[in-house]
Amino acid sequence: MKFIADMMLGRLARWLRLYGYDTRYGVEDDDEIISIAKKEGRIILTRDFELVKKARKLGIDAIYVESNSIEEQMAQLMKAGIKFGELFPEGARCPKCNGIIVKVKKEEVKGKVPEKIYRMYDEFYVCTNCGQIYWPGRQWEEMLKMDRKFKANKP
Ligand SMILES: [Zn+2]
Repeated sequence: MKFIADMMLGRLARWLRLYGYDTRYGVEDDDEIISIAKKEGRIILTRDFELVKKARKLGIDAIYVESNSIEEQMAQLMKAGIKFGELFPEGARCPKCNGIIVKVKKEEVKGKVPEKIYRMYDEFYVCTNCGQIYWPGRQWEEMLKMDRKFKANKP
């Protein structure tokens, strides 16, 4: 299952990527969103009902996202049957660019992360597309907290 999210749904797009879903984001034009969805077999996620109607008329799957709140958005997608497994990092996509994240040896990030971080952690992951480095730090803990919150909300 692959997605393309409209410009209103940046936060949701980042979360979908963290759960491993290939999610395009950053395309502004409705017709372009539709044409990418068609070409790449993506489901459109949008806050714009007109776009949903337009897509459906062309036989393209589109989900009208009802809320602005990330918790409610996630609950809606779960209700729609979209599965959210284990969060980041195994199988996750980079929240910044949708690239694939892989685990790397600690030595490979030497000099690329702050010295203190290098000493503190043994587990590092790198985005194969943009080079962003990830490790199980405070931000990661925050994400896991959100993950538990989403799943507790599960309808
Ligand atoms: Zn990336």
